[in-house]
Amino acid sequence: MAISTITVIGAGTMGNGIAHVGAQSGFSVTIVDVNEAALARAVDTITKNLDRQVKKEAISEDDKNATLARITTSTNLEQAAATADLVIEAASENFDVKKRIFTTLDSVCKEDAYLATNTSSISITELAAVTKRADKFIGMHFFNPVPVMKLCEIIRGLATSDVTYATIKAMAIQMGKTPVEVQDYPGFISNRILMPMINEAIYCVMEGIATPEDIDTVMKLGMAHPMGPLTLADFIGLDVCLSIMEVLHNGLGDSKYRPCPLLRKMVAAGYLGRKNGRGFYAY
Ligand code: NAD
Repeated sequence: MAISTITVIGAGTMGNGIAHVGAQSGFSVTIVDVNEAALARAVDTITKNLDRQVKKEAISEDDKNATLARITTSTNLEQAAATADLVIEAASENFDVKKRIFTTLDSVCKEDAYLATNTSSISITELAAVTKRADKFIGMHFFNPVPVMKLCEIIRGLATSDVTYATIKAMAIQMGKTPVEVQDYPGFISNRILMPMINEAIYCVMEGIATPEDIDTVMKLGMAHPMGPLTLADFIGLDVCLSIMEVLHNGLGDSKYRPCPLLRKMVAAGYLGRKNGRGFYAY
């Protein structure tokens, strides 16, 4: 089935970016959230980001208006999902929240509609199994900020069909993204490689090998990373880093994925990074 109508669940950081890019690529998009204020903020953010694109002359005022005209919002999941060809779930990173959403979607969506999740760390196979359409279920892992970042990891659950994969891959390309095919294992590719690197940088701090500034300088100037691992950890959120390391450790069962005790200690102290002003750096 060709996709023309998308419902995005969750109007937060990722949901508004996915809706923006979807609408800009010609799809009709409905954003759903349980929180009215989050929906208003999402439309406001998308409008501001489109204004910035107009200012840079990347798009015209007409493009901006046409994009906004393709976006609607709703707090009624059942109604908003009933006509969608594809639902992309970008609600909070919590298995029970996502399980409830997909159980509802499975009962209200069209029989041939595809279901995708933007989860960073939950098993695609396990989420697919709460529905009766695991063959039409897939991971679409976008990166923040979605309008800027080119990558989309497309994660195949154990039961994802070849048709579903091919349809979603084509759709990601239509959204201007570069899709990468990934099998469903903890952390996919991105976090499987990134998080152990960040965790190791935290071990270097804990063992007094160097200061956070010097560790970041080594990775920026020696490895040409645009941002050092500790600056990046603060940006992602130390609580998010810890929870992804737990997923790798529990899911793969190898002690090399054990979260660094300093990371645990900082999260316990409430040092969560940029979002609350204190992490490896002060903001
Ligand atoms: P966020 O907290 O900014 O937004 C989540 C939104 O979901 C909130 O507006 C909340 O009101 C809404 N929500 C919660 N329960 C809901 C429900 N039952 N129905 C509808 N809406 C509901 O979160 P985010 O950073 O946008 O992350 C969303 C998803 O994307 C998570 O699974 C996360 O792991 C993943 N992700 C995040 C990033 C990132 O850098 N932030 C990157 C890739 C993937």
